[in-house]
This record gives sequence, C-alpha cells and structure tokens, in this order.
Amino acid sequence: MKFEGSNDRSVFARCDCGAFHRFDKNEVTIVDTNIYINDTYECQKCKYKHTSIDGYLSEEGNKAQELITSHIEAVKRMKAAAEEEIEREKHTVKCKKCGSSQVSVGDKGFGLGKAAIGGILLGPVGLLGGLVGSKKTVIICLKCGHRWEVGK
Ligand SMILES: [Zn+2]
Ligand SMILES: [Zn+2]
Repeated sequence: MKFEGSNDRSVFARCDCGAFHRFDKNEVTIVDTNIYINDTYECQKCKYKHTSIDGYLSEEGNKAQELITSHIEAVKRMKAAAEEEIEREKHTVKCKKCGSSQVSVGDKGFGLGKAAIGGILLGPVGLLGGLVGSKKTVIICLKCGHRWEVGK
C-alpha cells in the first residue's frame, strides 16, 4: 500500500487497486521511514493481503521537505523579480557621465546557490541574508567606462 498522509490519530494509505483505507495509529507500527501493519490487512476490493505501507517519510522529513521546497520557490521568485528589474534598468538607463545608452549590466553575483544553502541551513533569516548581500548589480558604460550600482 502507498502512504497517502497522516494526522494525530490516523494513517491513510491506498492499495495498488485504488482502494483507500484509514488505519488507526495503534493499528500500525512506524519504524523510521517504514510503516508496518500490525495485523495483516486484506484489501476489501482486490483481497490482497498487506503487511506494510510504502512511501512514508517521517513527519519531520515531510516538514523539512516542504520548507526546502518553499524556500527554493521564494528564491526563484526573488531572482525572477531581480532579473526583471535588471532588464528594465538595461532598457532605460543612460550613462550619467556621457549620456550614452550603450551600457552593459554586470551582475556582481546574485548567489542563488549561496542563498538557497543559507535558507536550508539557517531558515528564513539565513535566506534573507543570502539575498540581501548579493543583490548588487553594476552598470558599466561601454563608451566611457563609467560604472555605478543599480538604484544609485
Ligand atoms: Zn486492493
Ligand atoms: Zn559613459
């Protein structure tokens, strides 16, 4: 049977035939990432006798996985927003020294990897820290060589 979810009192599982079954927590034994059914459970639909439930991650593991996924999504969104800002800046910006619109945007390194690792290891604070320190984009005039930071 495949693990479908759990709460304080129940474990939900689905048979290969598609039949859904709810077990009381006291009907199963959870050992690490495995769930064993105390008494063999015979599926009412296909009559298969089940002894265990597959695909279980511990609650902690599930939570950690969700946290990592949401952090990665947040970093992706922030990166996309930053890239959009850079794109806009690229099209509207003019060199403050010579007025040329021929400029190049040099990314000082957004550090997605670093931010993501910070998020996993340190939680939201680390994630923010990783992003804040890294969002420095430099614009370089291709004509006169003048360079300045985005937003300055
Ligand atoms: Zn079945
Ligand atoms: Zn210039």
